[in-house]
Amino acid sequence: MASESTIACPCCGRESGPPHRNTTFPFCSRGCKLADLGRWLDGAYALDPVSGRLEVVDPDEAEELDPDALH
Ligand SMILES: [Zn+2]
Repeated sequence: MASESTIACPCCGRESGPPHRNTTFPFCSRGCKLADLGRWLDGAYALDPVSGRLEVVDPDEAEELDPDALH
């Protein structure tokens, strides 16, 4: 029996997959998917339209987010 394909989550590095079972593949969880999307959006919209200040997201800070807290 072939082993199911899994990869390391690009956000936290935990095992993720397989795609047919994990709807958030290649991320291990919805929290990681949202965290990665948030980082991407922060890069695309780096200027805060309210304050006009440049927002910089620290990857180490993002990894401290609890996936369960993002509901
Ligand atoms: Zn993850």
